[in-house]
Amino acid sequence: MNETEPPRVVIIGGGVAGLTAGTFTARAGFDTIVLTHGESILRRNAHLENVPGFPAGVNSRLFVDLLIEQAERNGARLEAGRASDVTVGDPFEISVDDGGFDLRAEYVLIASWSDASYLESIDGIHLLDRGSKTYIDVDDGGRTGIEGLYAAGRIAAKAHQTVVCAGHGAEVALSLIEDSEVPFYHDWVAPEGYFTGRGREVPPGCEEISEDERKRRERESMKRMQEAFEEHHAEEPTMHPAVEE
Ligand SMILES: Cc1cc2nc3c(=O)[nH]c(=O)nc-3n(C[C@H](O)[C@H](O)[C@H](O)COP(=O)(O)OP(=O)(O)OC[C@H]3O[C@@H](n4cnc5c(N)ncnc54)[C@H](O)[C@@H]3O)c2cc1C
Repeated sequence: MNETEPPRVVIIGGGVAGLTAGTFTARAGFDTIVLTHGESILRRNAHLENVPGFPAGVNSRLFVDLLIEQAERNGARLEAGRASDVTVGDPFEISVDDGGFDLRAEYVLIASWSDASYLESIDGIHLLDRGSKTYIDVDDGGRTGIEGLYAAGRIAAKAHQTVVCAGHGAEVALSLIEDSEVPFYHDWVAPEGYFTGRGREVPPGCEEISEDERKRRERESMKRMQEAFEEHHAEEPTMHPAVEE
């Protein structure tokens, strides 16, 4: 890595956990690539009713699309392609099928439920085989035991629930940031004066915004959410592949 360039993280899997993790690492200043192949399993859901903030539930396809938009808006880049191998090293090398490219990164975060086919080739990773499913053994912060390699969401054996996997994506991104040399305190947006009014510097990762800026952001958010929820989301739930037509 050139010393002036931000560290790169490749997140494998652009579903609930991976997109949430990408939002956090991109906001912390990492060069963030979300490598994704196929769709989030959440697109099979009929109506999502247990995610905080949506009292009458939300269309899960719309929810995933908004997660994608949020990650990109915060600076993450989505790349289409299937990870087929990860070589541990400094940097890590990620082989991509059908993408016509390979990736290198200082950090890798695996969030590729339910594809575990490429994990066995990763030197030193500890896998848990439970019936037909394979999970990655991680510590509380999603660390795999291999420096720089993390896992989040269902593939890290978290409960099969959206809010849990999203929360774990955030938690693992925060461990990765804390383990790195990127200065960080919290990812907070505070009103002007919250820190500086007490004679404190605004801590790294935090932002203080003026009242005008707060109102501008609120207006932008209201407009975007009104557009997003104006009409039915056209896409229908994806059926389980084993269900006959
Ligand atoms: C029918 C159904 C209904 C559900 N309803 C609810 C509900 O009502 N409430 C709730 O809380 N949860 C629900 N869930 C569960 C929820 O969808 C999951 O728990 C959540 O999506 C898991 O998040 P994740 O990021 O771990 O996996 P995913 O969201 O599936 O994301 C994994 C991503 O990785 C990609 N990927 C896989 N392999 C690779 C690879 N090799 N390279 C690159 N990318 C790869 C996948 O294509 C996918 O985009 C439901 C699930 C199903 C199937």
